[in-house]
Amino acid sequence: MKDELILIQGSNFFSFSPNGPQLLEAVRQFDGNRTERELRALPQGEELLGLLEEEQWIVRLEAPLRDLIEGRPWISRQLSFYAHVQRNYPHRVLAELEKRHVLIVGTGGVGSHVAASLAGAGVCRMTLMDPDTIELSNLNRQFFYSREDIGASKAAKAASFLLARHPHLQLQTLHEPLFAHEEQLQRLGGVDLIVFCGDGPTVLRKTAQVGMTPVTSGGYAGSEGIIGPTCWPAKGSVCWGCRNDYRDEPRTMEILGAQVSRENDWNPSGTTVNGLVGNLLAEEALRCLAPTLGGPRLLNAYMSLDMESLALRRIELPPVECPHRTEPSTPQP
Ligand SMILES: [Zn+2]
Repeated sequence: MKDELILIQGSNFFSFSPNGPQLLEAVRQFDGNRTERELRALPQGEELLGLLEEEQWIVRLEAPLRDLIEGRPWISRQLSFYAHVQRNYPHRVLAELEKRHVLIVGTGGVGSHVAASLAGAGVCRMTLMDPDTIELSNLNRQFFYSREDIGASKAAKAASFLLARHPHLQLQTLHEPLFAHEEQLQRLGGVDLIVFCGDGPTVLRKTAQVGMTPVTSGGYAGSEGIIGPTCWPAKGSVCWGCRNDYRDEPRTMEILGAQVSRENDWNPSGTTVNGLVGNLLAEEALRCLAPTLGGPRLLNAYMSLDMESLALRRIELPPVECPHRTEPSTPQP
């Protein structure tokens, strides 16, 4: 029945089909392992290719599908997903992701979803950084951890969870906060992207050490999720340091200060808002990591997710003086 699905979906397919079984057999040849020349040589191959092209069902690969997924059969569905975003040569996305090194700051409610999604999406090298240990109050939203992990390092447990699913991953863990040491980023051996999912007090630290490394971030306040902004001065956005200098204004300090002074067990942290923010943030991270996906969408802007109305809004950030950007700011699609 699976093969017949293609025939049923093509409404004008039957109009030129004198030989149903022969066509069905021809469709079976479109299995990702034959060249275009071989397919054109099939009976009715030319017509079939034309129709499938028109319906946008053709995906072009640079190598047979079996070679592209060899040794990593788990990636086949992801490759098929990328084909919807990048119809020609979707495996280039995977090739780009495999070369990148991502630092995930915070492996709690948001960061653990980011890490799981990036690993499943094809990112192979990650450093997981978190100074915290696992608490009982984390378990509503942090699915890497279980009751027997209480008191253990979040970064270490997150890594063992990910490796159990994806043994090919190259993971480093750091049981320390970001910018605990001046030389921290150099010690990691070069990072292509920092995904910041840390708590407010860490955000407020001076962040000159990040330099020109692209940073994207996400979090939430009660029922509002925040995804972005992405700070990437080489792509025309304000840098992370200048963005945070702006955030350090007295009113912002007051709000964040009030948040962090509350009792930990009474801080609102809903399971759904964590997952949604984490996965949307992972999507932005993938666009930063794989140019074939079209680049970041949240330069100088962020997405606000309202859990009450389930509305997602894009909010442009006010211009901030930043002498570090090397490209003029460009409007986002
Ligand atoms: Zn700057």
